[in-house]
Amino acid sequence: MVLYRADLRDIYFNLFDFLKIPKLYPQFNEQDITSIIEEFNKFMSQEVWPTRESGDQEGVHISNGIVTVPKCFHELNQKFCENGWFKIGYPEEIGGVFAPYAVSLACTSLLNGANASYSIFVELTHGAMNIILKFGTKQMQQQWIPSMMEGHIGGTMCLTEPGAGSDVGALKTMATPMSDGRYKIKGTKLFISAGDNDLYKNIVHLVLAKTPGAPEGTKGISLFAVPKLNADGSSNDVLCNKIEEKMGIHGSPTCELVFGGNDNCLGEMVGKECEGMGLMFVMMNEVRLFCGIQGESQANMAFMLSEAYARERIQFGKPIIDLPDVKRMLLKMRAKARGLRALNLYVGSLFDRKCLGESTDGLIALLTPISKAYSTDEGFNVCVEAMQVHGGYGYIKDYAVEQFVRDSKIATIYEGTNGIQAMDFLTRKVLKDQSKTLQELFMKIHASIKKAQPYGWNKELTLLTLSMSKTKDILNYYEEKSTTNMEAVLGTSVDFLNYISRIVVAWLLLEQAILAKEKMMIEKDGDGYLASKITDYLFYSHQDLAHNAGLYQTICVFREDYQHISV
Ligand SMILES: Cc1cc2nc3c(=O)[nH]c(=O)nc-3n(C[C@H](O)[C@H](O)[C@H](O)COP(=O)(O)OP(=O)(O)OC[C@H]3O[C@@H](n4cnc5c(N)ncnc54)[C@H](O)[C@@H]3O)c2cc1C
Repeated sequence: MVLYRADLRDIYFNLFDFLKIPKLYPQFNEQDITSIIEEFNKFMSQEVWPTRESGDQEGVHISNGIVTVPKCFHELNQKFCENGWFKIGYPEEIGGVFAPYAVSLACTSLLNGANASYSIFVELTHGAMNIILKFGTKQMQQQWIPSMMEGHIGGTMCLTEPGAGSDVGALKTMATPMSDGRYKIKGTKLFISAGDNDLYKNIVHLVLAKTPGAPEGTKGISLFAVPKLNADGSSNDVLCNKIEEKMGIHGSPTCELVFGGNDNCLGEMVGKECEGMGLMFVMMNEVRLFCGIQGESQANMAFMLSEAYARERIQFGKPIIDLPDVKRMLLKMRAKARGLRALNLYVGSLFDRKCLGESTDGLIALLTPISKAYSTDEGFNVCVEAMQVHGGYGYIKDYAVEQFVRDSKIATIYEGTNGIQAMDFLTRKVLKDQSKTLQELFMKIHASIKKAQPYGWNKELTLLTLSMSKTKDILNYYEEKSTTNMEAVLGTSVDFLNYISRIVVAWLLLEQAILAKEKMMIEKDGDGYLASKITDYLFYSHQDLAHNAGLYQTICVFREDYQHISV
């Protein structure tokens, strides 16, 4: 088995130097946070990483309606929960171990990098718990939360149906009220992650359904908590019909669930009637950031393994890391993977700041689709590059990187495809907002550019300034086209999301390069880490941000020509 590796130095640089988390939470000093992450990382290396490959090979199975997960996941889940890792980030009043959100997100990243399939069980249960804690009744909370905290009850989110994927409003599952206040649920949900499994004694499904006479589309959707087992221990009428054979995340069952096949599936409404979509968005926004973390973590892990491999592998009498093209691939992978880490932890810190009373909602809303879509697309690309660095050994199973390619792809598809994220970003987060939040963000970026001027980097700073000024032209173009050629607007939403994402990631890497430069003036850079942060910024500007010039042409010049062309 290939050795587990994690770039803790970069995680600490993000949490301490860049995000200054201990300043936000004076009750945590750097040592406290380092201890949590060191211990967590030890657990990843010793317990989680060894289950990644074996879990992938064993996969999940279904027999007589019973779904089994890889055997090694049982002991792992028990140890994970006994060690209290599941509780990180939750308030002490409910039995949690409080930690800043950015710190718990850094742990999530390590977990996902170590075993993506297992991590999905943990994150879905966190997501379901958060909904129940925020919107569930006292009775639901008392009945389920303590056991969820102990790892005995899992959670799922059930949106997708055969005819309702991206178009969630087309769902057909019905919830009919009963005289005791509960609902009878009837319908089929497709592709439900962890939908059934023997890891937990019970599962709480959060199900979107319509009540009789509810309005059409998403406005008529309500949310229901539907347990696999009722409070008295009897089975609720929820059946796993089949599990999907798929490309990756083989340790995570993807289930077709039939609710109420015998007309006896009971659920309780969460929140109010017809408010289900809004509540589910609370869960989905968290899970979207988790998707971003999936892309980031797989990319960072794939880079770490590729770098180690390239130092050892000799061709033409030297380690391949010294060959120009391999060096290019590795520098590009590192800049991108660390840029994605900076992006996702930055968004995580905005949640922390929000909890502490700052108004960060607008920026969170703007950056969530970027975090989800850009991190997962580029995370996947980094994993593919990792395979290339390994040559033929990357394509075979022995070196662990082909599994990153297989496991990371799904994050570009679920929780709203990246195409849907891009439309949301362009239409709701930018145009509907009259680009106010985007302009506020650009003001911050201009301030960083000013701060960086004493350090040179003229070409790169000009590139960033130019990308921002061209954004004005793009927005003017959209304004003009939105009345005459909406296809040209929507058809370039993915390009636009990528365009802005590159500006944001280049900015975050610039901020980190400035910090590295400042630190280098007062401390020695023994292992060259600080210098590498400057290289990351420069390389990302040359290899990624520079392509915004072409993307500008694609959006504003060429796309219009497609209006009358069909596939
Ligand atoms: C392994 C796995 C796990 C999953 N886990 C869950 C889960 O736990 N819970 C759950 O509810 N679902 C889950 N899903 C389902 C997943 O969320 C959907 O597959 C996804 O939302 C896309 O829906 P679809 O597959 O029907 O594709 P479609 O909606 O048919 O989309 C196909 C293509 O059309 C594009 N498209 C669709 N509509 C538009 C539009 N209006 N404008 C532009 N482009 C559009 C999409 O971007 C995509 O490229 C999972 C799926 C998989 C494969």
